Amino acid sequence: MFKRIPGTKDILPEEVSNWQAIEEATRKIFSLYNYKEIRPPVIEEAALFTRSLGESAEIVQKQMFLIKRDEDTYALRPEGTASIVRAYLENNLDKTTGLMKVYYIGPMFRAERPQKGRLRQFHHLGSEVIGSQEPHLDVEVISLAGKLLESYGIEGYEIKINSLGCAKDKKGFTENLRVMLKDKLAKLCDDCNVRFKQNVLRILDCKNEGCIEVVKELDIRGGHLCPECKTHFDKVTDGLNSLNINYKIDPFLVRGLDYYTRTVFEIIHNGLGAQNALGAGGRYDNLVHELGGPDAGAIGFAFGMERLLLVINKALPAAAKNLVYVITLGDQAKREGLKLLESLRCAGIPSDTDYENKSIKGALRKANDLAARYVLIIGEDEIKKGIIAFKDMASGEQKEIKQTELTDYLKGLLQRG
Ligand code: AMP
Repeated sequence: MFKRIPGTKDILPEEVSNWQAIEEATRKIFSLYNYKEIRPPVIEEAALFTRSLGESAEIVQKQMFLIKRDEDTYALRPEGTASIVRAYLENNLDKTTGLMKVYYIGPMFRAERPQKGRLRQFHHLGSEVIGSQEPHLDVEVISLAGKLLESYGIEGYEIKINSLGCAKDKKGFTENLRVMLKDKLAKLCDDCNVRFKQNVLRILDCKNEGCIEVVKELDIRGGHLCPECKTHFDKVTDGLNSLNINYKIDPFLVRGLDYYTRTVFEIIHNGLGAQNALGAGGRYDNLVHELGGPDAGAIGFAFGMERLLLVINKALPAAAKNLVYVITLGDQAKREGLKLLESLRCAGIPSDTDYENKSIKGALRKANDLAARYVLIIGEDEIKKGIIAFKDMASGEQKEIKQTELTDYLKGLLQRG
């Protein structure tokens, strides 16, 4: 028998309702903030990610699922930002829309070592705003991320923020870090020794005990910001304060991708274990230009949906279910049942029937398992009399209803809630 690939998951029918509940809450919150959905393809030219995320990014070096066809190399997208900037430019939205506020929900692919909270196919729920450097936009995005978590009923999360500064500040910070670390290389892990040459900021993110010890001792206090970036960050924190949003400034917070500048943030939750980030994001003010577009400030973030679900860890209230279950007794009744289902569905009443030839007892049990609200029973007698036997599953009430009046009767009941 075939097995799924390690690091992928089957989201089974009984789990899907939680996914849908999250998606529904997400759409509501995003529309409250006037964000529209965008759906770029899951496959892109690999070079888009190499260019955007940076040659030395771990995702690019080790984790991209590549597909070669003839001369072309494609990648299953490891993240959404680069695709969305590509879509923004390719579709001339910089010229037609200007500021674009979008969100997306969909699968991402990274060839990581699978473990709890770390999959090879996982799902991002994220947003991107392209076309503004305004610090209050950062405040909106961080506040929106919090609102999303609240709408899923998630508590106990922590928002950490930092500013990497502009490209020049970031370069200065990187050089400074190299100076501070160059005598400590022996204490760093092999990966960090490579990072020292290629992507020194990433060392601050390393989860290796020895590296954490070294990093802890570094004198990093956010002093790398130029006056403009400092003012920008002050406005962000001031805005967050004015909205009473709890956050912690973490000067050690960096994002390993080349495109990040200025504000970066991460939302962690202790219920997650080692992989404790629910989501993360930040500004990428140079990426649009890097990919051939105008100078346009931009900011985005993404939550990992599987991690949200790990924290929620219970069934979310499903959308009201009003299933009507039709049970038929005998061949003639089956034919009537087929027509009845059609008329119920045409009237917008969710309905189903037994396709497994169960006994009436078995079919009633099935109706119960499906949490059907009402059961309709048709047998020879009912057909002769032009009626349907009706049962309210919650109250147990049973009665006969004229076939001609049934849909209106049910509609009335369902409208009343
Ligand atoms: P990133 O783009 O790496 O900052 O990811 C944003 C969020 O996506 C993280 O905070 C996680 O919640 C989630 N995430 C990232 N990588 C994975 C993965 N391999 N498996 C599951 N979730 C992930």
